[in-house]
Amino acid sequence: MSAYLQAMSISKTFDDVVAVNDVSLMVDEGKSLVLLGPSGCGKTTLLRIIAGLELPDDGRVVVARDVLTGPDLHVPPELRRIGMVFQDWALFPHMDVARNVAFGLTKDEVKSGRVDEALGMVGLAGYGNRYPDELSGGQAQRVALARALAPRPRVMLFDEPFSNLDSELRAQVRIEVSTLLREVGMTSIYVTHDQEEAFLLGDAVAVMRDGRLLQNGTPSEIYSNPATPWVATFVGEANLVVGEAHNGLIATALGALPLSTLVRGTCKAVVRPEHLMVEDGSAGTITAVDFFGHDSSYRVAVDDATYLVRVAAAPRFRPGDKVSISYAGPEVVAFPETAA
Ligand code: ATP
Repeated sequence: MSAYLQAMSISKTFDDVVAVNDVSLMVDEGKSLVLLGPSGCGKTTLLRIIAGLELPDDGRVVVARDVLTGPDLHVPPELRRIGMVFQDWALFPHMDVARNVAFGLTKDEVKSGRVDEALGMVGLAGYGNRYPDELSGGQAQRVALARALAPRPRVMLFDEPFSNLDSELRAQVRIEVSTLLREVGMTSIYVTHDQEEAFLLGDAVAVMRDGRLLQNGTPSEIYSNPATPWVATFVGEANLVVGEAHNGLIATALGALPLSTLVRGTCKAVVRPEHLMVEDGSAGTITAVDFFGHDSSYRVAVDDATYLVRVAAAPRFRPGDKVSISYAGPEVVAFPETAA
C-alpha cells in the first residue's frame, strides 16, 4: 500500500540558497508527521510546496494517488483540498464564529449544516453567534481549527501553529489539537523547531538541516538511534564521549559501554544524561547543580571532560563534591570521531 501523502525528491533553490535539497517524505492516512529543524533549514518551503503555494525545481507531490505537483503539472492550492494553518490562527474579528467557519464553504455546504458539524467536532457546538473577542485563547484556536476542517481537507498543514501562545496555553492547545486530529483521522504535517513539541505531536518526525532530510523515524527511534551526532544533540541532551571501539564495546572514561552500531577505532558515543549515575567517590567533581522540580542535573568534571548527568530526584550533591560517575543505560550509538 502506498502512503497517503508522498513528497518525492523535492528540491528548491532561491537565487543561490538551496532551501530544499532532494527531500522525500511519506505520511500514511490519519498519521502525523513533524518537520523539525533549526531556523532556515527549509521546513516552511517544503510545506509551501506541498500546499501548492510554491513551485519546486524538481520533485512530485502526491495525495491519495492524485499527482498535485509533478513535471509540467501544478494543481493550484485552492483545488488541492489541503488545509493550511499558520502561526496566528487569525479569525476575522468582525464576523461571528459561524461566519468565520463558513468562510471557505460553498452555499450548499453551509446549507447542509457543515458549520455546526465542524463546531461540534471541536467541542464548540452552540458558539456560532459569539464574536472572536468573546472567546478565550483556546476557544479561538479551536474555532480556527473548525474553519480549517470545515471544507473537509484531505491533509492539514501547520506552520509553527503554537509558537505565539504562552507556554501554559501552548501545552493545552497542542494536546487538544493533536488529539482531535487523531480522532477525526486527519493526515497532518506540522512544522516546528521545538524538539519537545515535535515528539509530542508526531507519529513520525523528519529532522532537517540545511535543506536536507537527515533522519525520518518515530520519536523514540530518533532519540535512541540518532543518524548523526548533530541529530543526537538537536533532539535532546547528549554527552558525546570519545573512546576506542572494538568488538561491540567502546572503551571510554566512563568504562566500557556496549555498542548498538558496528564501528571500530576512535569514535564518539552518544550518552544520554539520564543514563549516567553519580555516587560518592573520588574520580570526578561536581561543578554545577540545577534543580528543575521534576528532576535535577549535575555537571561533573572528570579529567579534561565535563559530563551532564540527569537524576529523577532533588539534588543531593553540591558544587565541589567529589563523586564517581558510571553508565547505566542501553547499548549506545557511536560515530567516527570526525562525523558531524
Ligand atoms: P524558519 O523556522 O525560520 O521559518 P525554515 O526552516 O522554515 O525556517 P525556510 O523558510 O523554508 O526555512 O527557508 C529556507 C531557506 O530559503 C532560508 O535560507 C531562506 O532565507 C530561504 N528562502 C525562503 N524563502 C525564500 C524566498 N522567497 N526568496 C529567497 N530566499 C528564500
